[in-house]
Amino acid sequence: MDTLESFDPATGASVGRVPVTPADQVQATVDAARRAQPGWTRLTLDERADVLARAGAIFDDRIEEHARLMTREMGKPLKESTAEAHRLGGPGLRRELDEIVEALRPEALEEGGARSTIHHDPLGVVGAITPWNFPMAMPSWMVLPALAAGNAVVFKPSEETPLCGQAYADVLNEVLPEGVLQVVHGADEQGRALVASDVEMIAFTGSREVGKEIMRQASGTLKRVVLELGGKDPMIVLDDADVDKAARFAAMNSFRNCGQVCVSTERIFVVEEVADAFEEALTQLASAMSVGNGMEGADVGPMVSRRQRDHVVEQIESAVATGAKVLAGGSGHRDNFVTPTVLTGVTDEMEIGSVETFGPVACVTRVASVDEAVEHANDTPFGLGAVVFGGDEERAAQVGRRLSAGMVGINRSVGGVPGTPWVGARESGFGFHKSRDGHRQFTQTRVLTRSS
Ligand code: NAD
Repeated sequence: MDTLESFDPATGASVGRVPVTPADQVQATVDAARRAQPGWTRLTLDERADVLARAGAIFDDRIEEHARLMTREMGKPLKESTAEAHRLGGPGLRRELDEIVEALRPEALEEGGARSTIHHDPLGVVGAITPWNFPMAMPSWMVLPALAAGNAVVFKPSEETPLCGQAYADVLNEVLPEGVLQVVHGADEQGRALVASDVEMIAFTGSREVGKEIMRQASGTLKRVVLELGGKDPMIVLDDADVDKAARFAAMNSFRNCGQVCVSTERIFVVEEVADAFEEALTQLASAMSVGNGMEGADVGPMVSRRQRDHVVEQIESAVATGAKVLAGGSGHRDNFVTPTVLTGVTDEMEIGSVETFGPVACVTRVASVDEAVEHANDTPFGLGAVVFGGDEERAAQVGRRLSAGMVGINRSVGGVPGTPWVGARESGFGFHKSRDGHRQFTQTRVLTRSS
């Protein structure tokens, strides 16, 4: 049987292997999930949530094990992996399940002697296809609501992080009835086979190009799709911004997880008045960051693969060749490691100014006015996140309302308070992660009306 081997991007050492699911076996895996689904659906919504909640204690027991696996398999610093592993269980899981239950309870409306009930029924079998950058959090954002809603799930983790995907599914399978959650291992061939199978829905988080292909393939049978795709997030720094705070945010949000975050700050538009101070502060922070094995306390780990590393280094080199200036990093990359880099003088015409980088690079562009900053920020087909830094929060929020992104943070990151959706605009996809609207995507809405 073919296997998929995982290598530590920091050392090149083998981390382990999983059996690849032959593409022509994917439909049989979906069939097995379909056979298990009716028994799972027969439980009430609350009963299903209680079953899933039992996984919380297991996730809590395995925080260290899961964190180490994530760092070894895809390179992020151990403290970031630990935070990701921590969020899978604990009170967060129960809260998430309570939110799902609340979103999916039937609702009744009455008028004119009639009573209608809106039901949120399971769809059947959901295919979940996930990326490698948050190898355990991303699956949980899709697999958990799909299961709680009463669906069976066929889950395909990224081929870069199959061991993390398997470890996540193993925990849920300790509490779930047999067959309800199936795992398919492989790369694009297995992903395509899952999309071509007779699943009722594909929940996908990954790149824009693959998202477009999935939408085309799914159209044949009008499969439901949720597409959470890439971005090219802007940050705007206004003249009254707390420059040190803005620079600290930019350093954190451009370099964490080695820049391999869908809402990484990739383009920074700074008004001239504060541009010198901002660039100086960001340069200092970037230069102070240590690069190395995420297991050994480095601030920035390796990129997930040589392919990803080459893409980032090529973008940096091409930007410099066409006029960008290096303020920090820019060279000294070795193996899969890329030095945290700050570029200034980046223009929209450069590849790095428009194509997703997904690496540890902060690109600064000086602008003469707020209008110019807004125009640049919106000049992208993407629309995932955006942030605005400004002293007058009200004014900064008004600038934020002019941005085309789905999520905007004012003097902070883009994530909303619990209950709000994770949502992209334009070519960053459609559909939601989390929130009432997000949970309902995994269901078929049905309305039953009778006399009251
Ligand atoms: P990717 O699109 O290359 O792969 C994602 C998944 O799709 C993998 O499991 C892969 O095997 C599978 N796949 C590849 N080709 C396929 C096909 N033709 N049909 C079906 N499945 C296929 O993305 P990646 O490199 O794993 O992840 C990085 C991307 O994910 C970035 O663009 C990032 O911005 C995005 N992302 C978005 C969010 C969000 O919430 N919007 C979150 C995390 C990552």
